[in-house]
Amino acid sequence: MSRVDLVIKGGTIVRSDAVFKGNIAVKDGVIVAITDEAFVPASEECIDATGQYVMTGVIEPHLHLRDPSKNEREDFTSGTMACAAGGITTIVEHPVSTPSVHSATTLRNRIEAVQHKSLIDFGFYGGAGYDNLDLMLEMAEAGIMGFKTFLPASPPGREQEFIGLNAKDDGFLYQILEIAAKTDLPALFHLEDNTLLQLFEGRVRAQGRKDPMAHIDSRPEIAEIVATAKLLAMAQDTGAKVQLVHMSTDRGLELAKFYRKQGVSISIESCPQYLLLSKEDMEAAGPFAKMNPPLRSKETQRKLWNYVHDGTIDMIVTDHSPFLVSEKEIGYEDIFKAPPGHPGLETLLPLMLNEVANGRLTWQQLSSLLAENVARIYRMDQKGRIDIGKDADFVLIDMKQEWKVDVSQMYTRSKGTFKLFDGWNIKGKPVKTILRGKVIMENGEVIGKPGEGRFIRPTPKNHA
Ligand SMILES: [Zn+2]
Repeated sequence: MSRVDLVIKGGTIVRSDAVFKGNIAVKDGVIVAITDEAFVPASEECIDATGQYVMTGVIEPHLHLRDPSKNEREDFTSGTMACAAGGITTIVEHPVSTPSVHSATTLRNRIEAVQHKSLIDFGFYGGAGYDNLDLMLEMAEAGIMGFKTFLPASPPGREQEFIGLNAKDDGFLYQILEIAAKTDLPALFHLEDNTLLQLFEGRVRAQGRKDPMAHIDSRPEIAEIVATAKLLAMAQDTGAKVQLVHMSTDRGLELAKFYRKQGVSISIESCPQYLLLSKEDMEAAGPFAKMNPPLRSKETQRKLWNYVHDGTIDMIVTDHSPFLVSEKEIGYEDIFKAPPGHPGLETLLPLMLNEVANGRLTWQQLSSLLAENVARIYRMDQKGRIDIGKDADFVLIDMKQEWKVDVSQMYTRSKGTFKLFDGWNIKGKPVKTILRGKVIMENGEVIGKPGEGRFIRPTPKNHA
C-alpha cells in the first residue's frame, strides 16, 4: 500500500454488523483500507485511538437552523459547530426557515446562503404543502433528500416560515403522497391530527388554562395515533415512501409495524426527549420543555424502548429547534404563546452513549440508529458506515470519561433554552470528530472551519 494521508490506529471499530479492533487508512478524504491491528499502513498523519471506539460520524437528519433571517436563534455556523462538538458530520435540515425551502429556487438560494457557513456536510428537505404541489417534482430534480409536510396547522404569526409545509386537509395530503410516489424520495410527516388538536386545545382553553401542563393536555396521544393511521392508509394506497418523524407513542408505532408487514415503505424516527423524559419533566422546565408532539407519560416512554429494540424505530434524531430565551419565557404566562422546541445537537450522541454504558443499547444498534440506517434510507451512498470507499467521517469515543452535561460549554446559540438534560451524568464522551479525513473537533474544542461542509444530495438510483 502506498503512503496514505491518515491512519486511525488501535481503536475499536463500531459497525452495525461487528465491533472489532483495527486500523483505518484514509486517502483524499475516503477510507481506503481497514487493516487488522498488527499492520499499520505508512501515513502522513496518525491518530492513536487505543482504548477508544471509532464510529462513523453521526448523521442527523432532523434539525432546524435559522439562516438567513433568524440568525440570533442559530445560524449554519453556530449550528454546525454544535454538531461537530456532538460527533455529527452530516445533517439534513428541515424547512422551517424564512423563507422555507418550498421550490427549486428557494433550495438553490438556501444552498448559496449557507455553504460558506457550514462546518459539516449538509442536505435539505423540500416542504410539500397544499400551496406548492406543482413545485414538488422540481425540488426532487434539484437535489432535496425528501419532502416534509406538517399535518398540524402553522403556528399563528409564523406563516412565512411554513410556506409549502402544510397538508391543510386530507385531499391535499393524498395529492402530496401521489406526487411523492412519482419520485424515489421519502415523504416525511409531522403526525398530529389537526382537527383533534383543535378539539383538545379548545377544551383546555375553555377551562382558562395557560399553565405548562395545559400544553400536554392539548395534544394527547390520540392526535398522533389518528394522524399515523390516516397517513399509512394513504401511503399504502398511493405507493409513496413515508417517514414518520419524531414518533412519541407506542400505539402509533404499532400501526407502523402493521403496515410495514403489508409492504408499505415506512421509516421511523424518535428522539432522546421521548425516550428519556416524560411529561413530569415539564413541571420543572415549563415552556423550555414545550415541544410538538409533547412529552408523554412514563408508561409510554418505557414502551417506546421496545420499538427501539425490535428495530421498528430506524433512527434517533434531535429535532433541534433553537429559539431565544425571551421567546420561550413568554410561556410562563401563557404556554400557548411560547414556540415549541428544544436544542439537542450536542447531547444526542452523549445521551445515547450513556444508554450503551448502562446496557440499554448495543454498539451495533447505536451505529444503525445514528448513522447507518439514515444513510441507507436517504441513499447517501458515500456516508454512514466504516467501509472501504466511504467518506472518512468518524467520531472517536472515550467510554472511560464520566462527565456532566454543562450548558456553558455548548456551541449552540440557543444554549440559554437548553434545560432538559442540563447537569445529567453521562458515561462516554465524543473526543474527536473527523470530516472526510480532517479533524474538526478535538476534546470538546471545535477546530473545523465554516465553508468546509459540502452540499449533498441522494445518490442516483442506478448508480453502480
Ligand atoms: Zn422538526
